[in-house]
Amino acid sequence: MSAKLSGRTLFAAVYGDPVEHSLSPAMHNAAYAALEMDRAYGAFHVGAQKLREALRAVVALEMLGVNLTVPHKERAARILPKLSDEARLLRSVNCVINREGVLHGDNTDARGLETDLRGKQVDAAGKAVVIAGAGGAAASAVLACIRMRAGRIVIANRTQARAAALMRRFARVRGVCAIEAKPISVLTNSTLMGQAALIINATSAGLRGEEFALDYAAAPSDCVFYDLSYARQPTPFLMPAVALERRSYDGAGMLAGQGELAFELFNRRPPPPGVMPAALMHYLGRD
Ligand code: NAP
Repeated sequence: MSAKLSGRTLFAAVYGDPVEHSLSPAMHNAAYAALEMDRAYGAFHVGAQKLREALRAVVALEMLGVNLTVPHKERAARILPKLSDEARLLRSVNCVINREGVLHGDNTDARGLETDLRGKQVDAAGKAVVIAGAGGAAASAVLACIRMRAGRIVIANRTQARAAALMRRFARVRGVCAIEAKPISVLTNSTLMGQAALIINATSAGLRGEEFALDYAAAPSDCVFYDLSYARQPTPFLMPAVALERRSYDGAGMLAGQGELAFELFNRRPPPPGVMPAALMHYLGRD
């Protein structure tokens, strides 16, 4: 699958800690191979203290750019001098593009999620959306839902002050709908759950083997459950929804969507349609 290397090969990569699990190299290299481009994408283990140094290497090595994952996204938004409006609003960078030696920070998570939701014909327009979590991924989910013209967004978080801070940040965004901040216990409120058209898990609880209570049965039969986390099997958040035969999706589509956008930013051309999602599904054992 991976591209052949030559003396002219240009490189992109993902920086993270941990990074070994990343499926980005599989997706990007599949696109390079399909396009027969002399480019390659790697994964580098970059600890929290090494980010500045590793970003300088992007310029020194004339790399195309890098994707950032945990723990670098928020710090990069603080240290990069050039940020897209979206990265500034999200206070998070997942994509650093090298434009003639100048690094530009962008964030493709919200657009990746929006593209995936629209592709799955999820209609949030004028409807109530409940988002569990208030970290960087939740911010992307709020922005995606604003763009999809949700009528009401409820941010439910374990630390309610963090949900309130996220709500205030988006209150200044043009075209914003009603946004509310609630404690995570609101997910057991059958009145609220009964009004939800879309329930998004943007917490990292499942990754840690932790859980929070949610009244799945109270949600309308056409309610969509979406987990930003992804796995080979239905995630712990999605399992009860699957058992109730509700529409359920994990974040693999969002991952593919943000990756396709990053590919276009790095290479100034889109990947061939379907190649990056197919590579991802292959590695998740779903093809
Ligand atoms: P983050 O900034 O660390 O935020 C984590 C969130 O999870 C916080 O709101 C935290 O609540 C909450 N949380 C953690 N443990 C919990 C528990 N036991 N019960 C309830 N809430 C809990 O992380 P992030 O960057 O936003 O990422 C969140 C998830 O999104 C991760 O699983 C990540 O893999 C996924 N993600 C997926 C994609 C994709 O492309 N599919 C992209 C980005 C992120 P507190 O505020 O109370 O601590």
